[in-house]
Amino acid sequence: MLPVEPTRTSILLTCEHAGNTVPPQYRPLFEPHAGLLATHRGYDLGALHLAQTMAEQLGVPLLTTDISRLLVEANRSLHHRHLFSIVTRGLPRQQKEQILQEHYLPHRQMVTAAVQERVDRQWRVVHVAVHSFTPVLEGQVRGAEVGLLYDPTRPGEAGFCRAWRGSLEVALPELRVRMNYPYRGKADGLTTALRRQFADVQYIGIELEVNQRMVTPWDRFRSRWKTSWPVATGGGTEPWTLDSDPDL
Ligand SMILES: [Zn+2]
Repeated sequence: MLPVEPTRTSILLTCEHAGNTVPPQYRPLFEPHAGLLATHRGYDLGALHLAQTMAEQLGVPLLTTDISRLLVEANRSLHHRHLFSIVTRGLPRQQKEQILQEHYLPHRQMVTAAVQERVDRQWRVVHVAVHSFTPVLEGQVRGAEVGLLYDPTRPGEAGFCRAWRGSLEVALPELRVRMNYPYRGKADGLTTALRRQFADVQYIGIELEVNQRMVTPWDRFRSRWKTSWPVATGGGTEPWTLDSDPDL
Protein backbone atom coordinates (compact mmCIF):
# COMPACT_ATOMS: atom_id res chain seq x y z
CA MET A 1 0.00 0.00 0.00
CA LEU A 2 1.31 3.44 -0.88
CA PRO A 3 1.85 5.81 2.03
CA VAL A 4 -0.93 8.35 2.45
CA GLU A 5 -0.13 11.95 1.48
CA PRO A 6 0.75 13.65 4.77
CA THR A 7 -1.54 16.29 6.22
CA ARG A 8 1.21 18.28 7.91
CA THR A 9 4.90 18.20 8.72
CA SER A 10 6.55 17.74 12.06
CA ILE A 11 10.17 18.64 12.80
CA LEU A 12 12.25 16.40 15.03
CA LEU A 13 15.83 17.10 16.09
CA THR A 14 18.32 14.53 17.36
CA CYS A 15 21.92 14.60 18.50
CA GLU A 16 23.77 11.26 18.38
CA HIS A 17 27.15 12.54 19.54
CA ALA A 18 25.98 15.01 22.17
CA GLY A 19 28.42 14.08 24.93
CA ASN A 20 31.42 12.06 26.04
CA THR A 21 29.91 10.33 29.04
CA VAL A 22 31.35 6.97 30.01
CA PRO A 23 29.31 4.99 32.58
CA PRO A 24 31.33 4.24 35.76
CA GLN A 25 31.84 0.52 35.10
CA TYR A 26 33.63 1.25 31.80
CA ARG A 27 35.85 4.08 33.05
CA PRO A 28 38.90 1.92 33.80
CA LEU A 29 38.98 0.95 30.10
CA PHE A 30 39.35 4.62 29.22
CA GLU A 31 42.21 5.46 31.55
CA PRO A 32 44.84 5.03 28.84
CA HIS A 33 42.64 7.04 26.41
CA ALA A 34 41.52 9.93 28.62
CA GLY A 35 42.81 12.56 26.16
CA LEU A 36 40.76 11.10 23.29
CA LEU A 37 37.46 11.53 25.09
CA ALA A 38 37.79 15.30 25.02
CA THR A 39 38.40 15.42 21.25
CA HIS A 40 36.12 15.06 18.21
CA ARG A 41 36.73 11.35 18.49
CA GLY A 42 34.92 11.32 21.84
CA TYR A 43 31.92 13.45 20.83
CA ASP A 44 30.75 16.24 18.50
CA LEU A 45 32.02 19.47 20.02
CA GLY A 46 29.31 22.12 20.09
CA ALA A 47 26.63 19.93 18.51
CA LEU A 48 24.47 19.70 21.62
CA HIS A 49 24.52 23.45 22.16
CA LEU A 50 23.52 24.05 18.57
CA ALA A 51 20.78 21.39 18.70
CA GLN A 52 19.40 22.87 21.93
CA THR A 53 19.40 26.33 20.40
CA MET A 54 17.53 25.11 17.35
CA ALA A 55 15.01 23.13 19.43
CA GLU A 56 14.34 26.16 21.61
CA GLN A 57 13.98 28.56 18.71
CA LEU A 58 11.78 26.28 16.67
CA GLY A 59 9.79 24.88 19.60
CA VAL A 60 10.39 21.30 18.49
CA PRO A 61 11.54 18.17 20.36
CA LEU A 62 15.20 17.19 20.66
CA LEU A 63 16.26 13.61 21.40
CA THR A 64 19.87 13.12 22.45
CA THR A 65 22.30 10.53 23.73
CA ASP A 66 25.35 11.73 25.64
CA ILE A 67 27.22 8.41 25.71
CA SER A 68 30.65 8.79 24.11
CA ARG A 69 30.98 7.42 20.60
CA LEU A 70 34.15 5.76 21.91
CA LEU A 71 31.98 3.45 24.03
CA VAL A 72 29.54 2.69 21.21
CA GLU A 73 28.87 4.65 18.02
CA ALA A 74 25.22 5.77 18.06
CA ASN A 75 25.34 6.76 14.39
CA ARG A 76 26.43 3.36 13.08
CA SER A 77 24.39 0.25 12.38
CA LEU A 78 24.78 -2.94 14.38
CA HIS A 79 26.73 -4.54 11.53
CA HIS A 80 29.18 -1.65 11.04
CA ARG A 81 32.83 -2.43 11.72
CA HIS A 82 33.26 0.82 13.64
CA LEU A 83 30.26 0.29 15.92
CA PHE A 84 32.79 -0.26 18.68
CA SER A 85 35.95 1.84 18.96
CA ILE A 86 39.59 0.98 19.55
CA VAL A 87 38.77 1.16 23.27
CA THR A 88 35.82 -1.24 23.26
CA ARG A 89 36.15 -3.49 20.24
CA GLY A 90 38.17 -6.10 22.17
CA LEU A 91 35.55 -6.55 24.89
CA PRO A 92 33.87 -9.94 25.33
CA ARG A 93 30.70 -10.45 23.33
CA GLN A 94 28.50 -10.44 26.42
CA GLN A 95 29.80 -7.08 27.56
CA LYS A 96 29.30 -5.59 24.11
CA GLU A 97 25.74 -6.90 24.12
CA GLN A 98 25.17 -5.18 27.46
CA ILE A 99 26.52 -1.89 26.07
CA LEU A 100 24.14 -2.18 23.12
CA GLN A 101 21.15 -2.92 25.32
CA GLU A 102 21.84 -0.13 27.80
CA HIS A 103 23.54 2.60 25.80
CA TYR A 104 22.83 2.14 22.08
CA LEU A 105 19.39 0.68 21.47
CA PRO A 106 17.40 3.03 23.75
CA HIS A 107 18.25 6.12 21.67
CA ARG A 108 17.57 4.45 18.34
CA GLN A 109 14.31 3.01 19.59
CA MET A 110 13.26 6.37 20.99
CA VAL A 111 13.94 8.16 17.69
CA THR A 112 12.27 5.44 15.62
CA ALA A 113 9.22 5.51 17.89
CA ALA A 114 8.99 9.31 17.64
CA VAL A 115 9.04 9.10 13.82
CA GLN A 116 6.54 6.24 13.79
CA GLU A 117 4.18 8.08 16.11
CA ARG A 118 4.06 11.05 13.72
CA VAL A 119 3.77 8.89 10.61
CA ASP A 120 0.85 7.08 12.25
CA ARG A 121 -0.87 10.47 12.46
CA GLN A 122 -0.18 10.86 8.75
CA TRP A 123 2.36 13.59 9.31
CA ARG A 124 5.55 13.94 7.35
CA VAL A 125 8.61 14.05 9.58
CA VAL A 126 11.58 16.34 8.94
CA HIS A 127 14.30 14.78 11.05
CA VAL A 128 17.45 16.87 11.44
CA ALA A 129 20.31 15.00 13.10
CA VAL A 130 22.72 17.64 14.39
CA HIS A 131 26.45 16.88 14.12
CA SER A 132 29.73 18.75 14.03
CA PHE A 133 32.98 17.93 12.23
CA THR A 134 36.60 18.68 12.94
CA PRO A 135 38.06 21.54 10.84
CA VAL A 136 41.12 19.47 9.89
CA LEU A 137 41.11 15.71 9.40
CA GLU A 138 44.34 13.84 8.65
CA GLY A 139 45.98 17.05 7.49
CA GLN A 140 43.08 18.01 5.18
CA VAL A 141 41.42 21.35 5.88
CA ARG A 142 37.68 21.02 5.43
CA GLY A 143 36.32 23.52 2.91
CA ALA A 144 32.92 24.37 4.41
CA GLU A 145 31.29 25.64 7.55
CA VAL A 146 27.98 23.81 7.06
CA GLY A 147 27.18 20.52 5.36
CA LEU A 148 23.69 19.24 4.56
CA LEU A 149 23.68 15.46 4.17
CA TYR A 150 20.81 13.74 2.41
CA ASP A 151 19.92 11.02 -0.05
CA PRO A 152 19.84 12.60 -3.55
CA THR A 153 17.44 9.89 -4.77
CA ARG A 154 14.75 11.11 -2.32
CA PRO A 155 13.02 14.15 -3.85
CA GLY A 156 11.75 15.39 -0.48
CA GLU A 157 15.26 15.49 0.99
CA ALA A 158 16.82 17.01 -2.11
CA GLY A 159 14.17 19.74 -2.25
CA PHE A 160 14.40 20.49 1.44
CA CYS A 161 18.20 20.78 1.36
CA ARG A 162 18.17 22.98 -1.75
CA ALA A 163 15.73 25.33 -0.06
CA TRP A 164 17.63 25.32 3.21
CA ARG A 165 20.98 25.96 1.57
CA GLY A 166 19.50 28.88 -0.33
CA SER A 167 18.07 30.46 2.79
CA LEU A 168 21.21 29.80 4.81
CA GLU A 169 23.23 31.59 2.17
CA VAL A 170 20.94 34.58 2.47
CA ALA A 171 20.83 34.59 6.28
CA LEU A 172 24.51 33.76 6.83
CA PRO A 173 26.38 34.73 3.65
CA GLU A 174 29.80 34.34 5.30
CA LEU A 175 29.28 30.58 5.64
CA ARG A 176 30.15 28.09 2.95
CA VAL A 177 27.28 25.59 2.75
CA ARG A 178 27.92 22.35 0.87
CA MET A 179 25.73 19.39 0.03
CA ASN A 180 26.71 15.90 1.15
CA TYR A 181 29.92 17.24 2.64
CA PRO A 182 32.11 16.24 4.46
CA TYR A 183 30.29 12.89 4.27
CA ARG A 184 27.78 11.31 1.96
CA GLY A 185 24.21 11.38 3.21
CA LYS A 186 23.69 7.81 2.06
CA ALA A 187 26.53 6.46 4.20
CA ASP A 188 25.70 4.27 7.17
CA GLY A 189 23.91 6.23 9.90
CA LEU A 190 20.65 6.75 11.76
CA THR A 191 18.94 8.69 8.97
CA THR A 192 19.96 6.02 6.44
CA ALA A 193 18.47 3.33 8.69
CA LEU A 194 15.23 5.29 9.06
CA ARG A 195 14.94 5.80 5.29
CA ARG A 196 14.69 2.04 4.96
CA GLN A 197 11.65 2.05 7.23
CA PHE A 198 9.87 5.16 5.99
CA ALA A 199 9.00 6.36 2.49
CA ASP A 200 10.02 9.74 1.11
CA VAL A 201 6.55 11.19 1.65
CA GLN A 202 6.69 10.13 5.29
CA TYR A 203 10.24 10.92 6.25
CA ILE A 204 12.90 13.48 5.39
CA GLY A 205 16.19 12.61 7.10
CA ILE A 206 18.88 15.29 7.05
CA GLU A 207 22.20 15.36 8.82
CA LEU A 208 23.30 18.88 9.61
CA GLU A 209 27.09 18.99 9.89
CA VAL A 210 28.65 22.13 11.32
CA ASN A 211 32.38 22.87 11.33
CA GLN A 212 33.72 22.90 14.88
CA ARG A 213 35.47 26.18 14.09
CA MET A 214 31.99 27.62 14.45
CA VAL A 215 31.49 26.32 17.96
CA THR A 216 32.87 29.35 19.80
CA PRO A 217 31.41 32.13 17.67
CA TRP A 218 28.12 30.29 17.31
CA ASP A 219 26.13 32.66 19.56
CA ARG A 220 26.78 35.42 17.06
CA PHE A 221 24.76 33.46 14.49
CA ARG A 222 21.86 32.41 16.65
CA SER A 223 19.30 34.94 15.55
CA ARG A 224 20.21 34.81 11.88
CA TRP A 225 20.29 31.02 11.98
CA LYS A 226 16.66 31.06 12.98
CA THR A 227 15.70 33.29 10.09
CA SER A 228 16.92 30.63 7.65
CA TRP A 229 14.22 28.23 8.76
CA PRO A 230 10.89 29.63 7.63
CA VAL A 231 12.31 30.01 4.13
CA ALA A 232 13.72 26.50 4.17
CA THR A 233 10.39 25.23 5.34
CA GLY A 234 8.56 26.82 2.47
CA GLY A 235 7.48 30.10 4.05
CA GLY A 236 4.18 28.48 4.95
CA THR A 237 3.20 27.46 1.45
CA GLU A 238 5.07 24.17 1.08
CA PRO A 239 3.91 20.91 2.64
CA TRP A 240 6.64 21.23 5.30
CA THR A 241 5.15 24.28 6.97
CA LEU A 242 6.76 24.71 10.35
CA ASP A 243 4.64 23.44 13.19
CA SER A 244 5.46 22.65 16.77
CA ASP A 245 3.98 19.61 18.45
CA PRO A 246 2.68 20.64 21.85
CA ASP A 247 0.88 17.33 22.19
CA LEU A 248 3.90 15.06 21.56
ZN1 LIG B 1 28.37 13.30 14.78
